[in-house]
Amino acid sequence: MRKKIVAGNWKMNLTFEEGQKLTTEIVNMYKDENIKDVTVVLNPPFVHLFSVKKLVGNTPNLFLGGQNCSDKASGAFTGETSATMLKSFGAEYVIIGHSERREYFKESNELLTAKVKQALENGLTPIFCCGEPLEIREAGTHEDYVKNQLTESLFGLSEEDFAKIVIAYEPIWAIGTGKTASSDQAQEMHKALRDHLASKYGQEAADNTSILYGGSCNPANAKDIFSKADVDGGLIGGASLKSRDFMDIINSF
Ligand code: PEP
Repeated sequence: MRKKIVAGNWKMNLTFEEGQKLTTEIVNMYKDENIKDVTVVLNPPFVHLFSVKKLVGNTPNLFLGGQNCSDKASGAFTGETSATMLKSFGAEYVIIGHSERREYFKESNELLTAKVKQALENGLTPIFCCGEPLEIREAGTHEDYVKNQLTESLFGLSEEDFAKIVIAYEPIWAIGTGKTASSDQAQEMHKALRDHLASKYGQEAADNTSILYGGSCNPANAKDIFSKADVDGGLIGGASLKSRDFMDIINSF
């Protein structure tokens, strides 16, 4: 049985006080609303990790993740954060290959393979992002484009390592734009990606892989999107900065 996961990506938002307030609200609501069977991951900026972890404590099924990690283990790489450091601060997950990293920081499929390896070597679960830009969707080649992202970055992994990966399908034209993929569009892609994973790792491994949807997910559309057979949760940007919205998305399962 694959996990249902909702991960909040705070991106480069929130001061220390704002991060504390948001986390406190989420932890309290999470306990009050008795969330079950959903794994929730908070992905704050690195500087918040320690203080967010203190507030989250050992709340069951509520985890911490990074938004990125270095492809290197350690050393003279000013400004970088290693997977080892993330783990030592209590993170269990790390987002890898977000489209903003791919676009603004020129992260290639090859570099992302190295980041995934660093994450796995340090016991972190990679939330591996993939997704097509608008022009690729309009050209109708989106399926091949996204499958290729998975092939190039992940298909060198052993079966054992692949079993630890979470995928997030995020059409770039839907991220932060208020334009969501329809639930049918999401299902179509998730099914195509699962079939692609099955072609390499077998049906059982593909069926056990959580594939999250990301792109303007909100309390009004989450129920419809999460109801689809191959959608196992969401990677949430904007709406993860509002505790009530984030909880309502979690409660959409
Ligand atoms: C994201 O950053 O991964 C994301 C999906 O953002 P938003 O929900 O704001 O579109």
